[in-house]
Order: sequence, then structure tokens, then C-alpha cells
Amino acid sequence: MYNPRVEDLREREFPMLRDTIYLDHAGTALYPKSLIERFAADMVSNLYGNPHSASSSSQRSTNRIDDARLHLLQLFHANPDDFDVVFVANATSGIKLVLEAFRDLPQGFSYLYHADSHTSLVGVRECANQHHCFASDSEVEEWLVDRQMKKVQAAQVPELFAYPAQSNMNGRRLPLEWCSRARSTGRSPHEATYTLLDAAAFVSTTPLDFSDVETAPDFTVLSLYKIFGFPDLGALIIRKAAGHVFQNRRYFGGGTVDMVLSLKEQWHARKTDSLHDQLEDGTLPLHNIMALHAALDIHHDLFGGLDMVSSHTMFLAKALHDGLSALRHANQMRVCQMYSSPHSYESSQAQGPIVAFNIRNSQDAWISNFEVERLASIKNIQLRTGGLCNPGGIASHLDLSPWEMKDNFSAGQRCGGEDDIFGGKPTGMIRVSLGASSTKSDVQRFVNFVKEFFVDEKPQSLGLPGPPHSQTSEHGTFAVESLTIYPIKSCAGWKVPPGQEWEIRKEGLVWDREWCLVHQGTGVALSQKRYPKMALILPTIDVERGCLRVRYCGEMPRPFKPPEISVPLSADPSYFVSEFPKSSTTKVCGDTIPAQRYSSKKIADFFSSVLGVECQLARFPVASRTGASMRHSKAHLQGFSQKGVSRPILLSNESPILVISRSSLNRLNEQIKSSGGKAAEAEVFRANVVIAESLQSVPGREKPYAEDEWQYVKIGEQLFELLGRCRRCQMVCIDQQTAVKDEEPFVTLAKTRRFNGKVFFGQHACHVRLGDSRSRQAQYATVKVGDAVRPVCRGADE
Ligand SMILES: *Cc1c(COP(=O)(O)O)cnc(C)c1O
Repeated sequence: MYNPRVEDLREREFPMLRDTIYLDHAGTALYPKSLIERFAADMVSNLYGNPHSASSSSQRSTNRIDDARLHLLQLFHANPDDFDVVFVANATSGIKLVLEAFRDLPQGFSYLYHADSHTSLVGVRECANQHHCFASDSEVEEWLVDRQMKKVQAAQVPELFAYPAQSNMNGRRLPLEWCSRARSTGRSPHEATYTLLDAAAFVSTTPLDFSDVETAPDFTVLSLYKIFGFPDLGALIIRKAAGHVFQNRRYFGGGTVDMVLSLKEQWHARKTDSLHDQLEDGTLPLHNIMALHAALDIHHDLFGGLDMVSSHTMFLAKALHDGLSALRHANQMRVCQMYSSPHSYESSQAQGPIVAFNIRNSQDAWISNFEVERLASIKNIQLRTGGLCNPGGIASHLDLSPWEMKDNFSAGQRCGGEDDIFGGKPTGMIRVSLGASSTKSDVQRFVNFVKEFFVDEKPQSLGLPGPPHSQTSEHGTFAVESLTIYPIKSCAGWKVPPGQEWEIRKEGLVWDREWCLVHQGTGVALSQKRYPKMALILPTIDVERGCLRVRYCGEMPRPFKPPEISVPLSADPSYFVSEFPKSSTTKVCGDTIPAQRYSSKKIADFFSSVLGVECQLARFPVASRTGASMRHSKAHLQGFSQKGVSRPILLSNESPILVISRSSLNRLNEQIKSSGGKAAEAEVFRANVVIAESLQSVPGREKPYAEDEWQYVKIGEQLFELLGRCRRCQMVCIDQQTAVKDEEPFVTLAKTRRFNGKVFFGQHACHVRLGDSRSRQAQYATVKVGDAVRPVCRGADE
């Protein structure tokens, strides 16, 4: 049943959702504003000290912690006589506490777990004498029945049986009654089977009822931030009847012992009052525990309790599941491969509010999760993709056998990596998870998103849309409209003044990406993707005075004075950190590059204060010093085959020269405007050379994307080889004048220029040296604005 109150709460309680659709509640819930306000009011009006002392502030903390334990037990209808709560950092820490106890048992233990387990449950097996993974529910059922019929021997060593109440991968729910059926007390504690229930995913939207102590699990772990959004805290609920296993735990931490002898004799006495006293090592996260009071109250006030949340989210999950499974391509192929059984969303016994799926195109090929996540992020939709920390669930639903997974791993597959389809199979899934604050409109907008980007409305032909094959001579005549260099990587460009001859070197236009900004801590080069304000840093090449001048055109932070800095164009060694290159390697796009960092504090302060991150200016060493040109050597080439022609494509955003065409941009902007979007400026593509069709061309007869077909091009007197199309990411959405992000032009590019899951615009190029190296033309190759641009066929006699 849908709770319409949530619609009213959205504006007031979740201002962070204003332009965002949050669909990762299985990762963490969202905290309402009034929860933070209630907590803040408590913190500023009361003094809370560290417990374990007699002061009134300490006593106040102790009392509040005791109350929090009680309230948490009440949420689960658990009688404090039968259960205890141990506060831990997260569900994983709770699992590890249980593991420690079993590992330290004199006979060790045997571990049984279900294939749907979260990674944190799977890892327990590494400490067990022996372990077994149940591949399916029916295997668990068989084991339970066989044991009941005494077909299998009673446990020889203590057994721990663990499973998730709800799979964090697809939301499937597992039978809760396994807990009591699996438990056996045996003749002694050493012949008993204990149960560990991972309720982290389950309780985020659904109540658990421990009112019958006989059917409750022995150990239950949960993540409170998945229910309330805040505080960051986990809990282990222990059925006191099983508490004796902890007596064998060998480690003791501060707060868990009454006396410890260290000198001459080694002896200690554990606390005996309660389980939590024995298990909570060190200082408790007391402010987090305090916040639990506010979290419980506010959650109930706003959402009406976990029962209401459960029916609200299940209503939405069913709508989401039905919406996605109904999508069809024009050729009637299904769009979404769902990873849940068809009718499970009708029952909250069988299913939680999570929908896991993958997308296929109309040619029956998989769409990469990476691509989906990238497009979703452009549309401000937050979801999770990949292996989802659920190795067994992924392997069985994606039909991946161990050898395939190992093979994929050695072929470079990593969770969250860009390559996620191997051997024609996806290696991960898309997970959309709903929570107390989700609404019908979130669901509708998500289904529309999938429709907009992934449903093929027309029968598709393979290949990138482009102009039909034509003779190069038919193309209009092009000329250089502008030349731009980007002296500091990822900062604003500087336009070469018209009429000025600009030198081309092997590594590109002179002074292009000669400098970069590096993080002072990690040495990694900064980029606009993370620091959009870099677009407002304006470098200028002042050839006359021989310096690079840098201005910031955004609002300057108050106490900071100099509006501009400058460094010489010559690489004067006295400007650099002396111990080059040892301390000054830097990373650009994953590659380690030796860059020289400037030592000046004034320069560092300038960049650090405008960007709000501690960084320093660095310079790439001159090509002659290291032999090969840095930039050119970074151009990763990858085989790329289209229509049988193999052309290289550059993966890295670093290539010698980037060329875009005004006609292509015009076409793109027409498409953007026809859907009401914001047209893109040429600047967002960060091209070095913008070419435009000359004025003689007949209007309306432009040749957009003609450059896709070119192999070589002559600009003025210089020959360039086109290396391949330039792959694009969200960085093109940063307005270079305001540093504000938009969804265009990426959204339209993704619809019109997407090939093999990759989005392309512009061409990478490098200069080809011709003729006698002693000629002036070869020694000092230049281009200028206005130069004619002529495509040249491969093999043409030059
Ligand atoms: C989130 C989750 C975990 C891990 O919880 P942490 O709080 O990150 O330790 C374990 N199991 C399931 C089912 C989960 O959903």
C-alpha cells in the first residue's frame, strides 16, 4: 500500500533530493532533516561524557546508552531478558565478533552458509575447520530434513549456519524459520548448531519479530544506517541462551575486563555483568548511540513504523519491476533481463523492495553496466551496479562458472571497472533499491530513463550513424575557425590570436597541456570531472614577456589577494622542488608521469584557494629530456573495427591534437534544441582545432561528421593523420564559462553518437612530418586560423 504522506515529506525532509533520484537505499537509507535537527538539539543542550566514570555527564551517557539498547530491542519485540544488544560499527563488525567467538572454541567450528550471502558472511569460512556453501534453498531444506530424520550425524564440532534474511543483490527473502529449524542444542554446546542471521538488508524496510525467543536466530546482525540513514552504527543482537560461545573469545579490549595483570604474572578477569559489557571493546561510539533515540522517534513519526515502510516500498517495487519487465524494443525483444522470480513482488515474504536486472539492445547484445551508470549519473539518478558484494548470487544468476570468473579476473575484470562484459556475458547487474523516502515519481522517472536511452524504437542497423560513403571531393571546403591550447591540463583554453602562426610539435600544439595541477597529498593530476571550477582558471601564453599568466575568473575567496600569478615559459630549475624526480611523480589518467612541481608557496596558495583543494602547479618535462614525448607516449591505441576497416581509437583523453567540426556541432545542437535542451559551446569539447565549412558552402548542405570518414587531412601546408574518434564522458557537460553542470550535450550525444556503448565526438589527430627534415617547413611547422583544411585519401601522392 502506497503511503502518500511521503510525497508531502519530500520537499521538507529531504532537500538533498531536489534534483536527484536516489535509488540506492540498499546501500544506505536517507536521513530526514528533522532527525539531524533533533540530534543537534540534543547535543547542544546536554553534556555527554565518556561512560565508565562517576561524573554526572558520564552517568548521563551510560543511562542514554542503556535506554538506546532497550529501544532497539523493542523495535524487534525482543524481550531484554532473552536478548542483548552489542553496538558495533556496522553489520560486518557484528559478523566478525561472532566469528571470533567460534574461531576461539577449543574444537574450532564448522561453517555452513547460503549462496545468497553477502561477501562479509562468505569471508567467515576462512576461519572455519570446514565449510560448505548451500547452492540453493532446496539444498538447505534437504539438510534440515535429513538432520531431523537423523540421516546425517549430529555435529561433531560446533556448527554455525549463516544466511541473509534478504539478499542484498536482488532483494529475495529467505525463510526465517530456518533459524529455529537449524538450531540444535545437541548433547553439549560442542555438538550444537547455531544460527547467524544477516538482517542488514531485510530490516532496512521490514520489521523483524523476535517476540518468540524459540524461533529467533542466535545471532542477528544489522546496519542501522540502512534503516534510518543516520547514525552510522551497526548492532549484533544475541539470544542470551547462545551467549556462552563468547566465553571462549581470547581477545579482550579496554572496557571488557575487571582486572588485568601484565607484569610478572599474566592474568585477567572478564566482566561478567552482561554480554555487551564483555564484547564492546574500547570506547563506544557514544554520540552515534545517542542519535539512535532521535532516529527511532523521527522514523516512526514520519513513516509510521517499519510495517508501513514495508508496504509502501513493496508497492513501489512491484510497479518498478512491472514497468521494467514490460519494456520492449520495436522488434518485440525484451529490454530488461530481470533477476527475480516473476511473481515474487506480490509477497513481502518472498521479496524485498529491490529490483536487479540487466539491459539488452534489440540485437540481443548486453548493454554495459558502466554505460548505464554513466548515463544515470548524467540524469542525476543514483543507483548501484556491478558485483554488488554478493559473489554467490551473481555467479548463479549470471551463470558464471568459477573458471569464467577467474578468466575474467585475469583478463582485467574488476568490480566497478569499465569493461564489464566478457565472453558475451555481463559480469555484474544493475540494482535499483527503494526506501522509506521513495515515491511513485522516482519509479516512473527511472522507467522513463530506461525507455529514453535503451529502448530501440526503430529497427536498428549496427554501426555509428554517419554520412553515407562519399567521395572526399564532394565534401565542402573546410578551414580552421579557431586554434585553442590548454596550457594547464583541465583548465580553461587559450585561443591563439588570429593571424599568429602557431608551432606544431610531435606532441601537439606548442604549450598545449604543458602544465597540470597535482594534489599535494596523492600527486594525482586534478581534472574538471572532480573540480569543475578548473574551467574558470584562465591561463594565457604571453610570448612577448615569455611567461604563462594565470587568472581566476570565478569569485576569489575573501582573504586571498593576488588575482593573477605568472611563471616563466622557460623551465628555470630554480622554480621547482629540488629533489626531482623522486618526490614528484604524478598520475595522469592512471599513468605515472614524472612532472616537476613548482616549489613556490604563493603559486600553490593561488590554486589551492580557488579550487578549495591543496594542490600545486607542475610541469611535464621537455620531450628531449626524457626521449619520447610524454603526451604522445600516453596515447593508448586500441584496435577498433567498424565495417571491416580497422582504425585505432584513443582511450585516453590525452592525444596530440583534438579536432572538431563546426558542422558536426551544428548538427548536434539542432538535435539538442529540438528536445528543448541547452545548446553546447565548442569549448566544452576542449578541441585544439575547430574546423568550419567555408562560407561558399551552400547553407543546409553542411557535411556533419564528414571527419569520421577522413584518414588524413591537410591543414595549410601540414599533414595530419586522424587517429580515431574521441570518446566522451560527462566532462562535456561542464559549462566552461560558469563551471555549472548540465545534462547536455552528453544526453543527446549518447542518443545520436553512441557506438558499442561508447560515446564519440571529434577526432584525435597527430602531425605527420613530410619531406626534407632540413627544410624550414619541417623544422618549424605551423598552422594558423584561416588555413584551408583538405581531407586526403590514404595513399594519395603528396
Ligand atoms: C549492507 C549489507 C551487509 C554489510 O553491512 P555493513 O554495514 O557494510 O557491514 C551485509 N549483508 C547484507 C545483506 C547487507 O545488505
